Amino acid sequence: MVPELFIIYLFLFLFGASFGSFFNVCISRIPRGISLVTRASHCPVCGTNIKPWHNIPIISYLALRGKCHSCHTRINPHYFWVETVTAFLFMLLFWRFGETFNWLFFKYLIFFSALLIVFVIDLQHGIIPDVISLPLILLGIGSTFVPGNDVTFLSALTSGATGFGLFLLVGYAFEKLTGKEGMGGGDIKLIAAVGTFMGFAGLLFTVLFSSFSAVILMMLIRHQREKIFPYGPFIVVAAFVYEVFGNIIIARYLGLFGL
Ligand SMILES: [Zn+2]
Repeated sequence: MVPELFIIYLFLFLFGASFGSFFNVCISRIPRGISLVTRASHCPVCGTNIKPWHNIPIISYLALRGKCHSCHTRINPHYFWVETVTAFLFMLLFWRFGETFNWLFFKYLIFFSALLIVFVIDLQHGIIPDVISLPLILLGIGSTFVPGNDVTFLSALTSGATGFGLFLLVGYAFEKLTGKEGMGGGDIKLIAAVGTFMGFAGLLFTVLFSSFSAVILMMLIRHQREKIFPYGPFIVVAAFVYEVFGNIIIARYLGLFGL
């Protein structure tokens, strides 16, 4: 690797870890309706403000062995792995979009950062906050006006509406058949955002891949059938797989047919 590129990746890692630190604040405060800016980072148990040297992304969690410095309460592990995942996300997207800082790099940086926050919040609370999903839908449509965008205005609108309608229908049918709520309103708005950001092919892949992997996981943990698990994380992973590895998957698949 050329030295310049190494330095760029190093900075992306550090930037990613720092942004991940902010995403952690979003993850712990948005579901509780707490403002993101009102007060400094503090331990939710003993209330002690976290000192700057105990707030270094990734490193501090390891140095403190995952415990609050004053009251020794266990710190939620998402503080560690969200920072780590964000660091790798920034590098992966830079790699995916041709190692240039083009529009698509920034577009998907915003998109997948928001989806990472959604992933953890849905996993922990079983909700997808409207304050994230609704602006995403609009941002996906708005992004079509930027030169070099990968989705047209018309495609963003129709794909967003298709995702919304499809999940609304599936959710309705599931509820009629089983009497249980299958598809939450949050999932419906999230898949609409996937449509406006990624267009029709991305939407289709995300719908198929997320439902397929959810069914597989459901079969694997069948003994806990009564336990409902959130669908949002499946959407997030499927969208990420398509956008970052989709071109490779499609090339391999076509290669099978000698195309
Ligand atoms: Zn504490």
